[in-house]
Amino acid sequence: MTYSATTKSTKHVPQRSCTVCRVKADKPDLIRIVRSPEGLAVIDTAKKLPGRGAYICPDSECIERARKSGKLANAIGTVIGEDFWPELLSYAENFSVSKDVKIRSVLGLARKSGTLLVGTENIERERRKVLVMTASDCSEGVKRFAASRENIALGMGSDELSEVIGARGGVQIVGLPLASGFAKKIMSLNIAERGNAI
Ligand SMILES: [Zn+2]
Repeated sequence: MTYSATTKSTKHVPQRSCTVCRVKADKPDLIRIVRSPEGLAVIDTAKKLPGRGAYICPDSECIERARKSGKLANAIGTVIGEDFWPELLSYAENFSVSKDVKIRSVLGLARKSGTLLVGTENIERERRKVLVMTASDCSEGVKRFAASRENIALGMGSDELSEVIGARGGVQIVGLPLASGFAKKIMSLNIAERGNAI
């Protein structure tokens, strides 16, 4: 697999999957929860504690799903008390993750839910207004296609974009209906990072 020199993946950071949404991310960008010797769920802030652990996105949606589904409790093999969840939520809020990591996670979820439009044809077929996102190495044609729409240039090349959404490769552009929660999330991340509206 080839990566453009500007992507993070060239650093070979170990990858882990979120126990809840299964999205793969760099290990430092996920929160590790471990079962303590006393059988309690503990946030492994240094990611060094021994014991049965599991990873989760620093995302309130994943945390809420973990609470409701019991997936995190199953993964670490213990019962998780109700008082643990607010602690995990506030930890997640302060957890520093780059915009790109969050966008990757949203794109992965959008793909799994069937909301993500992959390629210009699918975007064109969508009747609602679409937010389009282009790979950093997309063609001039794709750039022109994007320019006439609400668009965001992603900080990843097409190989990485394809991998993020579980496609075979060569994906240069993806889209999300502007009215969808996924598009709103991505726009809010983008605005938060740049400090201005797109
Ligand atoms: Zn997740």
